[in-house]
Amino acid sequence: MEVSYEILLTGFPGTSDRISLGISTVVLIECGGTRVLVDTAGFGARGLLLSALSRKGIRPEQIDFVLFTHLHFDHCANFDLFPQAAYVCSRTEWEYAWEQEDIYVQKPVIRALGECRVRLIEEDGAEPVPGIRAVLSPGHTPGGLTYCFGSGQSRVAVTGDAIKNREELRSGEVVMTYDPAVSKDTIFKIRSQSDLVIPGHDCPLQIKENNVIPSETNQWRISFQKGLSVNGGRGNIGITLDV
Ligand SMILES: [Zn+2]
Repeated sequence: MEVSYEILLTGFPGTSDRISLGISTVVLIECGGTRVLVDTAGFGARGLLLSALSRKGIRPEQIDFVLFTHLHFDHCANFDLFPQAAYVCSRTEWEYAWEQEDIYVQKPVIRALGECRVRLIEEDGAEPVPGIRAVLSPGHTPGGLTYCFGSGQSRVAVTGDAIKNREELRSGEVVMTYDPAVSKDTIFKIRSQSDLVIPGHDCPLQIKENNVIPSETNQWRISFQKGLSVNGGRGNIGITLDV
């Protein structure tokens, strides 16, 4: 099965003292004639997501499947843009989103999703789409899924927030987990079966001889309306970067 992919939106690992950024990754996968999105980003990325698809010549109604890594707001808020799609997440994640209090789960979004076709994955390694395996990836949330495809030296894993960024992949140490040991086990499992990890909040990461190599410089540009001055002195708009 010929599988190709493209990163439509690249996640970013930063946060800020004004807002939880939640800039997450969206990947388009094409298997044969089937078009698949992994995650749909947060509401703030709605226009950017449509533009990225449009540049590929793809209309939203041409997306056949939306595979959710998990159901936090920054990964599923734009699901409604894809009315023809079948939606997929794990049964554990689905039940968690309905039953548990988690400030990053938007209950109205979940209720709206409940009106749609949602296939619930229970088995590790199930293929919701032929050629794409869903690997159980608990840690960040109980029902996280990583989507794996490719073979040989080109095994790709789209992890969502089971692995958020390069440092989590390198160290196995994460923030925002219900159990650090569970997260570590998940990261080890994914890492051992991947050549390229596409994390939830960072650029693609190559794994080569036990090293983690970011495949690009990950930048985020902030623009202001003409006439607004930045860091120009008292009363102006200030930006401080901590690196
Ligand atoms: Zn996230």
